[in-house]
Amino acid sequence: FDDRDGWIWLDGQFVPWREAKVHVLTHGLHYASAVFEGERMYGGEIFELTAHTERLFKSAEILDMEIPFTVAEIDQACKDTCAKNGLEDAYLRPIAWRGSEMIGVSAQNTKTHVAIAVWDWPSYFSPEARAKGIRLTWAKYKRPSPETEPVHAKAAGLYMICTLSKHAAEKEGYTDAMMLDYRGYIAESTGSNVFFIQDGVIHTPLADCFLNGITRQSVIKLAREKGFEVVERHIKPEELAGFTECFVTGTAAEITPVAEIGEYTFKPGNISLSLMDDYSKMVRRQLVMA
Ligand code: PMP
Repeated sequence: FDDRDGWIWLDGQFVPWREAKVHVLTHGLHYASAVFEGERMYGGEIFELTAHTERLFKSAEILDMEIPFTVAEIDQACKDTCAKNGLEDAYLRPIAWRGSEMIGVSAQNTKTHVAIAVWDWPSYFSPEARAKGIRLTWAKYKRPSPETEPVHAKAAGLYMICTLSKHAAEKEGYTDAMMLDYRGYIAESTGSNVFFIQDGVIHTPLADCFLNGITRQSVIKLAREKGFEVVERHIKPEELAGFTECFVTGTAAEITPVAEIGEYTFKPGNISLSLMDDYSKMVRRQLVMA
């Protein structure tokens, strides 16, 4: 992904895409001292821009890193990077990491660097898979306890088991993997949150040990404003037999119907389809929420 035209914002300057490099002794590479975001611009407007930037700063604070910019400066840099690349519909990837100024577990004298890359990325899952509903298998690894990892940061280190789980799923012909948490409850997929529907009621796992996605929060608000009951609670895997619809949510995934999780099957129904429609209008500002 490094050999292409375009501009990347790096520590306050635009650099040509191919030249946006870091040293091999970068602390973030050795010790996962890196936090990032995933955002989307729709028709020239970045959806929930400041919420994403604030989460980036919060993730950095949780990892004891100090971003040497303000939230407003990063917001502006995100917009400028899209403009510089001539994009009105884009995926944005801001990232902050500890640099190569020193190496070792202790990294007190490293600088926190920030980059923002943006690219055209219409669909996270293939349009064919989205239309049918994606197929998920169970992940081998479990989302850790808040006593084991800083689970509410969007931190690079928390993705190690996501990549392993996604690869294992893809090798077996699945699109993604569903991860349980350390207690055995349903948690999230490797890059999105999950919702289930039973008798007109929407259920979603309580975000107490995984990323409380900005899309998840928007979808909960949207569904409640549309008059649906949304229950956030612990969900056991065997309860999946009682749900008729299932979808995942995320900035990249948007709302994607799920057809299968292991032995359980679902069909995208009216509620999923109407929320997908409302979500795509909301992000394009064709539907304004209270
Ligand atoms: N969980 C994980 C592990 C993710 O990577 C993402 C994508 N950032 C999400 C959930 C959804 O978060 P959001 O809706 O903020 O994109």
